[in-house]
Amino acid sequence: MVVVMKENATQAMVDAVSDHLLNVGFKVHSVVGVNRIILGAIGDKRGIDLREFEIMDGVHEVIRITEPYKLAGRTFHPEDTIVEVKGATFGGEYVPVIAGPCSVENEEQMFTIARQVKEAGAKVLRGGAFKPRTSPYAFQGLGVEGLKLLHAAGKEFNLPTVSEVMDVSQIEVMVEYVDILQIGARNMQNFFLLKELGRIKKPVLLKRGMAATIEELLMAAEYILDGGNYDLILCERGIRTFVTYTRNTLDLSAIPVTKKFSHLPIIADPSHGTGLRDKVAPMARAAVAAGADGVAVEVHHDPDKALSDGAQSLYPKQFARLMEELRMIAWAIGKKI
Ligand code: PEP
Ligand code: MN
Repeated sequence: MVVVMKENATQAMVDAVSDHLLNVGFKVHSVVGVNRIILGAIGDKRGIDLREFEIMDGVHEVIRITEPYKLAGRTFHPEDTIVEVKGATFGGEYVPVIAGPCSVENEEQMFTIARQVKEAGAKVLRGGAFKPRTSPYAFQGLGVEGLKLLHAAGKEFNLPTVSEVMDVSQIEVMVEYVDILQIGARNMQNFFLLKELGRIKKPVLLKRGMAATIEELLMAAEYILDGGNYDLILCERGIRTFVTYTRNTLDLSAIPVTKKFSHLPIIADPSHGTGLRDKVAPMARAAVAAGADGVAVEVHHDPDKALSDGAQSLYPKQFARLMEELRMIAWAIGKKI
């Protein structure tokens, strides 16, 4: 449930309510809204009489949260969450673009692409070092060496970085080298990993599982929020459907739906969402028009030689053109790239 405090509630009143919630066994999260404090009481306490809290000094109202996700929903946190990462702002009036190769391959590749995407206006540099591949014989990523190269390229071109963490054992080194830790589609329900990422002090990018409902995505987000990490960005990256002409079906309606129920920023990944280079720009444009809080695209200076996902990687020139288009679309809906 949430306890909405009155606008003029004093800190002592807030503390008294919070203490009482803790005493009856709730875990308490608080949000400072525009003009009032909201306390989120988490815990399965069906027997509790809400009136116990309603009558306390400074309390405006007590609401039971009916959704299974408590901290990810708007009852507890009505205003949009804004996640700021070294100049890239997700969730407000900006629509930052994340760009870079699927995998970090070598220094020359990483620096070449970083320069090109930076020039075109990307705000975050991506590159996978630990790669979740369907085949154990496919390129598995450079590991820590890859993280170091991504970090160096990000530093050189003044771009924050994002890379996928696949296992709890990688968290420590990821925190050292990367600005945003990505949870891939295949790990969206790796609850142990989610819990551990709830404890870190770095932003997390949580991708929707390929067969996950929106509610399951928000429940996965809940694990991270419950751990105390509110710097969370969601990502629609396409789901499995009966459609065979694209790698996945980019569920763009998930963007307005998620934004209605959750305060968390949600971006779109049209590269994994379609799997085909010529479909990436149209779907990126559509994602921005649909209200996405950012876009993530794969870009490669020589996609034919890419060690992973070359077929869905944009050429740098295509990316630069896309950025121009996204600027116009963002402007049309009152946002900026
Ligand atoms: C990726 O972004 O590199 C990736 C593997 O994406 P997903 O988890 O969405 O397949
Ligand atoms: Mn990829």
